[in-house]
Amino acid sequence: MNVPFLDVGAGYAELRAELDAAYHRVMDSGWYILGEEVEAFEREWAAFCGVTHCVGVGNGLEALHLVLRAWGIGEGDEVIVPSNTYIATWLAVSYAGATPVPVEPNEGTYDIDPARIEAAVSDRTRAILPVHLYGQTADMDPINEIAARHGLKVLEDAAQAHGARYKGRRAGSLGHAAGWSFYPGKNLGAFGDAGAVTTDDAELADRVRVLRNYGSRVKYLNEVKGFNSRLDPLQAALLRVKLGHLDEWNARRAAIAVRYLEGLRDIPELRLPRVPAWAEPIWHQFVVRHPRRDALQATLTAQGVGTMIHYPVPPHLSTAYAELGMTPGAYPIAEALANTVLSLPIGPHLGRDAAEAVVGTVRSLGGA
Ligand SMILES: *Cc1c(COP(=O)(O)O)cnc(C)c1O
Repeated sequence: MNVPFLDVGAGYAELRAELDAAYHRVMDSGWYILGEEVEAFEREWAAFCGVTHCVGVGNGLEALHLVLRAWGIGEGDEVIVPSNTYIATWLAVSYAGATPVPVEPNEGTYDIDPARIEAAVSDRTRAILPVHLYGQTADMDPINEIAARHGLKVLEDAAQAHGARYKGRRAGSLGHAAGWSFYPGKNLGAFGDAGAVTTDDAELADRVRVLRNYGSRVKYLNEVKGFNSRLDPLQAALLRVKLGHLDEWNARRAAIAVRYLEGLRDIPELRLPRVPAWAEPIWHQFVVRHPRRDALQATLTAQGVGTMIHYPVPPHLSTAYAELGMTPGAYPIAEALANTVLSLPIGPHLGRDAAEAVVGTVRSLGGA
């Protein structure tokens, strides 16, 4: 049995009628920049996350970048980021002109380790940017406590956490602001690029709203040197349809995760993700670890099971950050994860048979 890593197209097939209706509504409206669809999605996404404001922007990277800009973070400032994340987290800080300061993760949850943050705070630190990696939120209480003690902002990178909860509260409501991506492969995915900022801070929301639209509130009156990073009304309309199915689709992923956690127990050397009691992950990825990861991946590929590595190169060792002059060993936990993590197939359209096939195949390999 062939098991694809992720079938994004299946999402369209399931919701075709609703999505086509939304598409026609926008096309017929004659209105293609900002406007009612974007505003409606912003209201609905804010309500879903349990916050008062949402601003739709072009993508997840821009969501993070515009918040940092709106806070006036730039040249000479430092922002604490996880050493293991998708590079967008770091790039948002670099785009603002500030310096990303990496902090190592907890090996079991993969998220930034709060116990290591304080040692990275300097008199230039302005913000902490935790990532809710793979769909499980970072441990936010200690992070917020450290931030409060040092007068720092907290920006959630929630790009992988649509609907995830921390102690009962949704991602996107756990810091001063959150940046969202609706890249097609995310748990709430558009049909192209899309992103948003959520926050309870009305002033911040207003500033991001101005920054996303050329620095203007009123057409041709430009208050600041802004950007062009607006959520498309077409994507907003399609996202509104998919939002109605997000909880159910996340539940389907959770059922697969339960099956994996149960079925893949006790395989020598195979490590499963740790879920703390306070976490309600939405399983953007199901990430296992194995010391001979490459061999395991090659064998799974040969047997028809699609997998991915998130991520093979930590940002500090990527060519993009060569300027840091970092060598292997600088962030050993992030590097160990990069060398051992493997993402198994998971998604709302992965059937029960497919999940069983993954369990059976991994078990038959004894992990490698
Ligand atoms: C996807 C992602 C982003 C960036 O989102 P884009 O919409 O692709 O710009 C940022 N951070 C993390 C952790 C992501 O997974």
